[in-house]
Amino acid sequence: MIDTRDQEGFACASGGHLYIHIPLCRSRCRYCDFPSHTSLDQAAYVAALLREADHLPDQAWSTLYIGGGSPSALDPVHLDHLLAGLGQRLRLSPAYEWTCEANPADIDEAMLHLLRTHGINRLSLGVQSLDDGLLTLLGRRHNAARARTAITLARAIMPRLNVDLMLALPGQEAASVAQDVDMLADQGIDHLSAYALIIEDGTPLADDVAQGRVVIPDDEASGQSLEAAWTAIERHWPAYETSSFAHAHDRCRHNLACWRLHDYHALGAAAVSTVAGQRHSRPSDPSTYIAALAGSGPPQWPVEIIDPATRLREAWMLGLRLRRGVHREHLTSLGDNHQRIEQHLAPLVDSGLVMTDGPWIALAPPGRLLQDAITRALMP
Ligand code: SF4
Repeated sequence: MIDTRDQEGFACASGGHLYIHIPLCRSRCRYCDFPSHTSLDQAAYVAALLREADHLPDQAWSTLYIGGGSPSALDPVHLDHLLAGLGQRLRLSPAYEWTCEANPADIDEAMLHLLRTHGINRLSLGVQSLDDGLLTLLGRRHNAARARTAITLARAIMPRLNVDLMLALPGQEAASVAQDVDMLADQGIDHLSAYALIIEDGTPLADDVAQGRVVIPDDEASGQSLEAAWTAIERHWPAYETSSFAHAHDRCRHNLACWRLHDYHALGAAAVSTVAGQRHSRPSDPSTYIAALAGSGPPQWPVEIIDPATRLREAWMLGLRLRRGVHREHLTSLGDNHQRIEQHLAPLVDSGLVMTDGPWIALAPPGRLLQDAITRALMP
């Protein structure tokens, strides 16, 4: 596989990538179907994570990412124990990136100092909106004022700060998104992740929509709202992926590694690792995960061998999410062939939906709302 990291401002090229899942939230947001729970035996879970960490390869780690759930929902005693334990076990590359996700409702100065003391240098805050009405609709625990306070505190203590925003929300005005975005830029955040709301089956919000209590924008309105938001965001930070906006040196190196199909390890319930062509899936139930780590030997997780055709489809899907695009040599190294690629590419380039830059193939601006259809048209 070719290494495209230098061409993407991917500064810490050497070292492994590790994801750690914390399946805990203080309450469930109304739109959420993520693998997370409102109660967890925190001491047992942290002990299981550290036991699994004992079986990680002895190597330097260039990116770590603690996500969830809400890692910030852990009691500070358990969070401290987890971070100290990881620090004892993991050798970090000199220019490592260590991200932790946090809920604005949990953040205070003490927690931020705790994270910094253990080496976390990037915080990802789930702000979602700065509109109190929309935050209530989403069932978030924080209001806009709390989010602003969390951002100010984090900005003062954390070297790098991402904020998550949700777009295409019911009743969300383009002007109000632009105002939120300008305010976030004024606050000095260096990375924005902006996702369209997806109504997931079985969630309270899906029920509201089905019962007519909440009306979601149709595809056309949703597309217009996304384009208006992207324009507002790109006045401050360039897009480097469909939902990710940052200048080159502030991009999330952990996510870039995953999108470029580099191996990544994982710890925790519901976490999936992809190493040497094999995908290992951990049980999503935390109790089952804890029980599986009770012995002294290495845990055995169900393994999926990733066949070459699947890997190639992933390269197309994830590569086209990136504004730089996907590299032809990466595709051919995974079994695609130049002739087939050119054949399918030509009509899309002619119609202005896809653009090329030397070996790179990327979505052109008019193609960005048609990403899924274009990807299907280009994949073998
Ligand atoms: S904080 Fe995140 S993971 Fe937890 S319930 Fe809300 S959306 Fe889901």
